[in-house]
Amino acid sequence: MSRFAQLLLYAPRVGRLRGIPVHLHLSFLLLALYLLLTTKALWVDLVLVLVVFTSVLLHELGHCEGARKVGGLPQRIVLWPLGGLAYNSHEDTAKAELIVSAAGPLVNLVLALIAGGILLVRPDVPGLDQVRAGASTLLTDLVALVATVNALLFVFNVLPAFPLDGGSIARALLRFPLQWKRATLVVGGLGVATAGALIVLGIQWRAGILFGLGLLFLFVSGSEFRKAWRFTPLPEYDDLMPHERRAGS
Ligand SMILES: [Zn+2]
Repeated sequence: MSRFAQLLLYAPRVGRLRGIPVHLHLSFLLLALYLLLTTKALWVDLVLVLVVFTSVLLHELGHCEGARKVGGLPQRIVLWPLGGLAYNSHEDTAKAELIVSAAGPLVNLVLALIAGGILLVRPDVPGLDQVRAGASTLLTDLVALVATVNALLFVFNVLPAFPLDGGSIARALLRFPLQWKRATLVVGGLGVATAGALIVLGIQWRAGILFGLGLLFLFVSGSEFRKAWRFTPLPEYDDLMPHERRAGS
């Protein structure tokens, strides 16, 4: 790997969570620097970064705990400003893929529901209508921020496209009735369609981030589709003696 590529991927270890090393990507520091230089409300921006950071970290921890649940081994978590990555090794079955991939977004859904529930039912915290009317407190703003960030993280991550969790969840569900190859072809095609919709929306709304993400999903979903297209499943060998088994035929 070139020095430039090494620098781009540089993510020093900043701690451990439940025994799993947590790495922080260099771009997080660049984001902090950018905020310091451009912000008009430093505390608001810092709280926003902290809520996003914590929500993404808990999302990735969810994947790691999911991997543990299916007998796998969490290896490390890397946090980027726009998301994280959890590196886990676990067996490749439909059930394991479903549990590990769904565990991350599930954490965000639970956090969004808890925070949304607090806003709706706690009498000592102003309700959503008061937040809208501008009569909110810092605590309410924080709870509303937790609810919003986690709801967005949940919705975004369950879109049926690779490399999102939604792509893996959809494929895992389809792997129960279908083989891996067909399941990947269906979700790869779905991912390309989702990417196309994001690209069109990105152009219509002049939202560069949607356009960029659409291109990324188009590339990754398309390459998963091609990989599955070329994949030749091994026939069932259970009725053959071990010395008769041949790989790739
Ligand atoms: Zn995830």
